[in-house]
Amino acid sequence: MGRGLLVLALLHTPLVLAQALGSSDSMVMDPQALSRAEVVGLYFTPPSDIASAVVQVIASAKREVLVQAYGFTHIGIAQALVGAHQRGVEVKVLLDQKSESTNRLVVELFQSNHISLRFDGSHAIAHNKVMVIDGQVVITGSFNFTQSAQSRNAENLLVLRSEELANNYKQNWLTHWAHSR
Ligand SMILES: [Zn+2]
Repeated sequence: MGRGLLVLALLHTPLVLAQALGSSDSMVMDPQALSRAEVVGLYFTPPSDIASAVVQVIASAKREVLVQAYGFTHIGIAQALVGAHQRGVEVKVLLDQKSESTNRLVVELFQSNHISLRFDGSHAIAHNKVMVIDGQVVITGSFNFTQSAQSRNAENLLVLRSEELANNYKQNWLTHWAHSR
């Protein structure tokens, strides 16, 4: 059987697929909870304007935005976070340690607007690109919050709605926040 056929066969047999994926303790949450997550948006750039989609999601935040990013140079996304902070949303930004020197413009914008900001130096690269909004919505994908990700790269972004999923991402975010400075 060719590799493609094998994959198809696995996909048509949920039990076999679950076995192929490994035991449940290799996953952070139960697959049934994952299956209840609602896909709110799926974007590919090009052609989509992922940055605008991210700005829209931030604009919808009412209570809290937790950010994890590797590169962050996109001034429009940064300004959307500042706007959220200014209207009373709790915004916390966690960046890879190298961002402190390489993403100065955005870092200074956050600092001058008193947004909580930490740098994670515990990994070769802190490569997550995640936002958790109001404990309900998660955005994640390959998309770094950078100008070049929008204008020059091939990227994807998923917007998911699920309290359980958001809580899992938040717990992971908190783990990194705790060992960052
Ligand atoms: Zn970390």
